[in-house]
Amino acid sequence: MTNVVTTATESPTAEGPTAESPTAESTPANGSVATGVVEMPELSPAHLPGTQNVGAGQMGPTGRVMPDFAEPPALRSHGPARIIAMCNQKGGVGKTTSTINLGAALAECGRKVLLIDFDPQGALSVGLGVPTYELEVTIYNLLVERGHNIRDVVQHTSMENLDIIPANIDLSAAEVQLVGEVAREMVLARVLRPIEDDYDVILIDCQPSLGLLTVNALTASHGVIIPLECEFFAMRGVALLVETIDKICDRLNPRLKVDGILATMYDSRTLHSREVVRSVVDHFGELVFHTVISRTVKFPDSSLAAEPITTYASTHSAAEAYRQMARELIARGGAA
Ligand code: ADP
Ligand code: MG
Repeated sequence: MTNVVTTATESPTAEGPTAESPTAESTPANGSVATGVVEMPELSPAHLPGTQNVGAGQMGPTGRVMPDFAEPPALRSHGPARIIAMCNQKGGVGKTTSTINLGAALAECGRKVLLIDFDPQGALSVGLGVPTYELEVTIYNLLVERGHNIRDVVQHTSMENLDIIPANIDLSAAEVQLVGEVAREMVLARVLRPIEDDYDVILIDCQPSLGLLTVNALTASHGVIIPLECEFFAMRGVALLVETIDKICDRLNPRLKVDGILATMYDSRTLHSREVVRSVVDHFGELVFHTVISRTVKFPDSSLAAEPITTYASTHSAAEAYRQMARELIARGGAA
């Protein structure tokens, strides 16, 4: 891993000011932008795959042939939930956006989905229209106080099959308060137990750190999805994250596995987006989801509208991308 990280981040293009410039784009394939990391295939830049219109059997944005992710069959019964932490200690990589939209896409497939806001910033709650400052009980109270019924804290969203347990800034105190608890890493796992059978998937939107809250999320989970922003320092810190996941698997939660790495904010017009995806695939291989999420202003727009993209811009390719992601996750066995 260190090698890949080093190569990707120290490549001339990474440091160079023209990584995103048209010049970089128009440089011939054998030109001076070659980094030693990526040899793009013989396609001309105009034909390099974006994330739109990549049908099954065609070359996808990860440089692999796109499989056919069939519409998943309807479920006859629900639960127990598979719990997935959306985790990357880097901020702004698309954790919250992916939690909301993957959750919404799974709910569209008839899966019962619960989203847990596990970041004191409360962006997941706000992004789904929950007025965080007016809340009397949130995930914080469930973690640090006894006697709450978790079902009273669950809120329904405007989407069928999509529920949320919100958070607000109160949660920032939990990290300190939990330190003195017995089995402090397992508090969230205990909190979630009573409702596990009510859902097919529980997605936990982690905060950007590897502190005790994130350790709790990983200890409660079956799987981890790592969103990675397609930009040159994307892989920085991933080694530490994987190491943390390995430790938690060894010491606290042997069932934990990495479900996959999701490339986000991909811009098919820039060479460096494609290079980052390629280096991530070179290193992590089949762990990288075939689905790649493009950069589009529709995401911040839909957050402002407090809606998932699947309802805010239902026919937009970005909504389609998260639907494909949901089908891919189900096809991989990452969700029922
Ligand atoms: P994180 O939870 O990892 O901090 P967010 O999901 O909050 O990241 O995303 C950070 C910012 O980037 C937000 O303003 C969000 O609207 C925006 N964003 C996320 N995904 C995309 C995307 N694919 N294209 C454009 N903007 C995005
Ligand atoms: Mg977030």
